[in-house]
Amino acid sequence: MKCTTCGSTSLIEGVLLDEAGAEDKKFVPKDVSYLKRLFGMGGRKVQAWGCIKCSHLQFVIEFTDEDRARFREFAGQQPSVLERLNPESSSQT
Ligand SMILES: [Zn+2]
Repeated sequence: MKCTTCGSTSLIEGVLLDEAGAEDKKFVPKDVSYLKRLFGMGGRKVQAWGCIKCSHLQFVIEFTDEDRARFREFAGQQPSVLERLNPESSSQT
């Protein structure tokens, strides 16, 4: 892995902990429902990498193959949740 800020390859992998020491930081796409989020569903594990040289912190999301297949069709700007749910209404704007 390379630092996106300075280009160094001196990165160390780590985890982000909250004050209680919980290590369950997850990335949750915006279209995951509130109820699913409430029960901890729909989140993807996040890896954290710190650059020794410039202290830049970067994240990597562990997307599943299913996620890639689902989101790959949208190149560039991702559609909003409403546009995704009702694609016909967005084409009229
Ligand atoms: Zn760096």
